[in-house]
Amino acid sequence: MNAPSPSLAELTPDQTYEQVARVTQEVAATLAKRLRQHTRGEVLFGLADRGRYATDASIYQVMPTGVFVPRDIDEVGLALDICRDLKVPIVARGGGTSQCGQTVGTGLVIDHSKHVRRLLDIDVEQATAVVEPGMVLDHLNTELKPHGLWYPVDVSTSGQATLGGMAGNNSCGSRSIAYGNMVHNVLGVQAWLSDGSLLDWGPYAQSHGQAREIGDYLRQLAHRLAPDIEAQFPKVLRRVAGYNLDIFHNQNPRPYTSDGSVNLAHMLIGSEGTLALTRQLKLKLSPLPRTKVLGVVNFPSFHQAMDSAQHIVKLGAPGQLMAVELVDRTMIDLSLKNPAFAPTVRSALLGEPQAVLLVEFAGHSKADIEPLLDQLEELMGDLGLPHSVVKMIDDTAQKNLWEVRKAGLNIMMSLRGDGKPVSFIEDCAVPLEHLAEYTAALTEVFERHGTRGTWYAHASVGTLHVRPILDMRRDGATKMRAIAEEASALVRRFRGAYSGEHGDGLCRGEWIHWQYGDAIYKALRDIKAHLDPANLLCPERIIAPPKMDNTRLMRFPPGYQVIPIQPALDWSAWNVQNDPRTEETSEPGTGGDPAMGLAKAVEMCNNNGHCRKFDAGTMCPSYRVTRDEKHLTRGRANTLRLALSGQLGPDALTSDELIDSLSLCVGCKGCKRECPTGVDMARLKIEVTHQLRQKKGLRLRERLVATLPDYARHAARLSGLLNLRNQIPWLAALTERVLGLSARRSLPNWESHHFFNRGTMGVNAQEALTSNQAVVLFVDTFNGHFESETAADAFKVLSAAGYHVHIAAKTPAGHGANQGHLCCGRTYLSTGLIEEARAKARELLAALKPFAEKGIAIVGLEPSCLLTLRDEYTALGLGEDADLVARQSLMLEEFLARELKAGRLDGLKARLRTINQPILVHGHCHQKAFGLMPDLMDIVKLLPGAAPRLIESSCCGMAGSFGYEQEHHEVSMQMAELSLLPAVRSSPDALVVADGTSCRHQIWDGSQRHAIHVASLLARHLAR
Ligand SMILES: Cc1cc2nc3c(=O)[nH]c(=O)nc-3n(C[C@H](O)[C@H](O)[C@H](O)COP(=O)(O)OP(=O)(O)OC[C@H]3O[C@@H](n4cnc5c(N)ncnc54)[C@H](O)[C@@H]3O)c2cc1C
Ligand code: SF4
Ligand code: SF4
Repeated sequence: MNAPSPSLAELTPDQTYEQVARVTQEVAATLAKRLRQHTRGEVLFGLADRGRYATDASIYQVMPTGVFVPRDIDEVGLALDICRDLKVPIVARGGGTSQCGQTVGTGLVIDHSKHVRRLLDIDVEQATAVVEPGMVLDHLNTELKPHGLWYPVDVSTSGQATLGGMAGNNSCGSRSIAYGNMVHNVLGVQAWLSDGSLLDWGPYAQSHGQAREIGDYLRQLAHRLAPDIEAQFPKVLRRVAGYNLDIFHNQNPRPYTSDGSVNLAHMLIGSEGTLALTRQLKLKLSPLPRTKVLGVVNFPSFHQAMDSAQHIVKLGAPGQLMAVELVDRTMIDLSLKNPAFAPTVRSALLGEPQAVLLVEFAGHSKADIEPLLDQLEELMGDLGLPHSVVKMIDDTAQKNLWEVRKAGLNIMMSLRGDGKPVSFIEDCAVPLEHLAEYTAALTEVFERHGTRGTWYAHASVGTLHVRPILDMRRDGATKMRAIAEEASALVRRFRGAYSGEHGDGLCRGEWIHWQYGDAIYKALRDIKAHLDPANLLCPERIIAPPKMDNTRLMRFPPGYQVIPIQPALDWSAWNVQNDPRTEETSEPGTGGDPAMGLAKAVEMCNNNGHCRKFDAGTMCPSYRVTRDEKHLTRGRANTLRLALSGQLGPDALTSDELIDSLSLCVGCKGCKRECPTGVDMARLKIEVTHQLRQKKGLRLRERLVATLPDYARHAARLSGLLNLRNQIPWLAALTERVLGLSARRSLPNWESHHFFNRGTMGVNAQEALTSNQAVVLFVDTFNGHFESETAADAFKVLSAAGYHVHIAAKTPAGHGANQGHLCCGRTYLSTGLIEEARAKARELLAALKPFAEKGIAIVGLEPSCLLTLRDEYTALGLGEDADLVARQSLMLEEFLARELKAGRLDGLKARLRTINQPILVHGHCHQKAFGLMPDLMDIVKLLPGAAPRLIESSCCGMAGSFGYEQEHHEVSMQMAELSLLPAVRSSPDALVVADGTSCRHQIWDGSQRHAIHVASLLARHLAR
C-alpha cells in the first residue's frame, strides 16, 4: 500500500512548489471530485486554468492545486469544509491585482470576483453598505452615487479591485489623508475561521460567544505587549504589515474608530486571507465631495517638492485637503510623449519643472475652497517659490489631470525589454519631515546598483511609489535583495513603515519580523495559530513566509526558457533589451528571444488586471460577458506565456487549451490601445491562428470566409439564389449544419448590381496623379459587394466637397469602379493565412504607392480594412512601401476632419441640410483603437442641427465572421446587449450611425434598425 500523502499544510515553506504539486495529485483529484459533487461552482483543475491563477500583479508564480469559482458565497463555506477535511490550503482571491504575490500559492484558489459580488444593503441615513467580497469598488460607487455617497478608499485599481481584496490588503487610496485606509472605513466583517465557524467581527464591546473569546485573547496579548507595540509600530498612516494588533493601543496617527473603541473587524483588515475568509463586509460610506479645486505646484527641484509636502498638508480645515500627489520629471516627460495626455499635462506646467505636486481641496462650493488655492500660492511664496501654482477650478480639467496621474504606473510599465520596473519597495512610508532626505538617499542606492526609479504618488502621506528597473531573468533577484536591505535601513533610520500600501505577500512577508521585532512577531505567530491552527488559510504568508528573492517562486525562475519558434509576423520591435539607467532600448531584433520577439510581446503583460474593466472603452468584450479569467486579455497572455515557455506541455501553441482561451477574442484591438503595456491580443491571435493552420489546415467555413474577396464577384452573379438562404429557414438550417454559420442570423445580402460593376466613375489614375485636388477612395469587399450604396455615398460626398475622386483599382490605368477590386487581406489575416494576406497586401500597395508618393490621401470606409494598412501591414515585413502608404491612409471621417481643420470643407458645409432627428453614434472597435471617435463626432456635427450622442459601447459582438459562427452566436448577442442594443432601443426615433459593416449588421439583427455609415449620413443631407 502507498504511504499516505502529506497534506499541503504539513509541508515546510522551503519545499518547492513542484514538490507540493506532485505529492498532492491524489488529494487534488479527490478535492475536485468533492467540489463537483457538493457545489454548483466552477471546478478548474486543468493545467492551463491553474496556470492562469498562478500569478498576480507581482513577480511571482506558484501553481495552485486547483481553482474554485463559487456560484454563491455559501459555496465558499462548503469549499472550506472540503479543504479542511483534505488538509488542502486555501488562497482567497478577488481581482488578483496584488503586487506582492498575496494571491499566488499552492492549494485551492477561490476566485470571489465572478459570482459573489452583490451589494446586499445600503443604509443612506447611517451611510453604510453591506457587500459581498467580490464586488468591485467602482461598481459599488456607481450604485452609491445617486444617494450622494461614495466609498472613499479610492485605489488606482478601482475598476478591478474587489472590496474583499481591498480589505485583505488594507488598501489605501490617493485621498487617504482625508479618509484613511481600508481599516478606517470598515465597520464589520462576517467571516469564516478555518474550523468552519462563521463569526461576526465588529465592535469588541458588543461581541459575544466565539468572537468575544477571540477579542479577549487578542486584548490580553496586546496589553501584555503594550510597550512593544508603542515602541515598534511605525507612527505613520500608511502601515499595512502583519496584523493590526495596535487596534487595542492605536499607533496610527488617525484613530481606527471615531470614538476610539476597538472593532475586531479591523484585525482582519490587511490579514491577506491568512486568518479568515470574508463572507460579507459592512462599510462606512462618506458623502460625495460636492466640489473640488486643484492647485498644481511646479518645483524647480525634486528635493524642494519633497520638502514642501510637510507644509502643504497643514493647509485647510480638517477634511478639506483631499490629496497631495507627486508627478516627477520622468513621468512628466513620458506623459508628454503620449498624444492623449500631452495637452492636459502642458496645461499644468509652468516652464520645465522637475516635479509637480497635485494639491486637491474639496468643499461645499467653489467659492468656499478657491481661497485655499490662494493660501497655497502664499505658502509657496513663503517657501521661496512665488508664482509656482497653476490653479484648476474647472472639473473637466481636474479630471483629465487625475487621469494622467492614475495612469502613472502604467505609463512606466510599457518599457520593452527584459528590464522592468519592479515593485518591492515601492510603498515604504516615512514621516513627511524625512521625505526629502529619504528619497534622495534611496535614489543614491539605485545609482549604486546600476538602476534608477521614477517617483510618483502619495506625497501627502509619505508613501512615494518607486520601482527600480531590474532584469528578473538575470541578476534582478540579487539586486532586489541588496536594494531592499539598504531601503529597509533607511526606513528604520527615518522610523517609517516598510510595507505602506501594497501588503506583504511573498515579497515582504520576511520583513514583518524585521519591522516589529521578536516579541510582536511571536504574538502575530500566536494569533495565526490561535485563529487558524490547521494553517489552512494562505500558509506561508505573513507568518513563516519564504525569502522575497526565492527565485523558484518567480515567474521567471532559473532555467526559464522560451521555445524557439519562427513566427509568421514580425515581432522584432519587442525583441529588444533596455538600459536600466537611461531606459533606452536596443535595435529591434537584438533582444535574444528564441521566439523572435513573440514571447517578449506576450511577456509585456504584467498581470495588473486593468483588462478586467467595465467602464468606457472597449477592452475586453469577452471578459465583460463571461467574467472568466480564461476569456480575459490577461488570461490569454498568461496562457500564451505558459505555452511559449513549455509550461503547458509539448505543442502547447496549438493546444486545445490555448485555442479555447483565444476562442472568444474578437480581435477588437481594445487591448492594443487600452492595455497599459500595449498587449496586442488581436495580433497575437492572428499569429496563433496561423500556427494552428500550419498544423491542422483550414475548415470549409474558414476557407469560405478567407477567400470571400476572391469569389465575391462570381457569387454576385448568383445573388438571387444565394440570398434565398436568408428567406428559406431550412436553407439556413442547412448552412448551419454544413458550414457552422448560425441559422439564427441573416447573412449579408449579395447585390447583383454592386459597386464594382457600376461602370466608370471618378477620375483616372493619371488625372488623379496630376491633380492637386485628388483623393483615392479605397472601396473594400464588404461595402463594395454588400452595401454598395455606402461606397457610392462616399464618392458623392467627396465629390461634393470638391475632390477629384479616383477609385482604387487593380488595373494601373483604372478609372472607376469596374477595373477589378482591391483587397486589404483582412479575411486572410483573421483566418491565419498570413502568406495569402501578404500577397493581397503587396498587390494593394503596388496599386496605391504612386498616389502615396504624391502625398494623395487614400480614404477608406470600413475600419477593419483601412486600418489594416496602418496596423497589421507593419508586421508583414512589407518594407518601406507599407510605411509610405500607411502614412497616407485615412478613414473617411479622419480625412474630412483633417480637411475641416485646414478650412477646406466650406463648400461641403454650405451644401449640407439641417437634420432634425436625434443621432446615435456607435464606434467600430478599430476606430476606437486608433482614437478616431472624436473625428467621427466632429464630422457628424457638420450637419446643421446635429447633436450626436456617442454610445458608450464595447465591441458590437459581430467582429467580422465571429458573430455569424453558430457556436458564437449567443456570446456575440450578449456582447451587443452589454450597452449597444439597449442604447439603440431606448432611442427609437434616433438615426444610428455605425461605420463598421458588421456593426450595422449586428444592430439590424438585434434591433431591426438600419444603421448607416457616416458617408451615407452626409450624402443623404446633401442639398441638390
Ligand atoms: C497598477 C496597480 C495600481 C495599484 N494601486 C493601488 C492603490 O492605489 N492603492 C492600493 O492600496 N493598492 C493598489 N494596488 C494593489 C491592489 O490593486 C490593491 O491592493 C487591491 O485592493 C487588491 O484588490 P483585488 O481584488 O485585486 O485583491 P486580490 O489581489 O485578489 O487579493 C488581495 C488580498 O485579499 C485576500 N482576499 C481576497 N478575497 C478575500 C476573501 N473573500 N476573504 C479573505 N481574504 C480575501 C487575498 O488572499 C489577498 O491576500 C495597485 C495594483 C496595481 C497592479
Ligand atoms: S493584458 Fe494588459 S491590462 Fe491585462 S493584465 Fe496584462 S498588462 Fe494588464
Ligand atoms: S482583442 Fe479585444 S477581445 Fe481580444 S483580448 Fe484584446 S480586448 Fe479582448
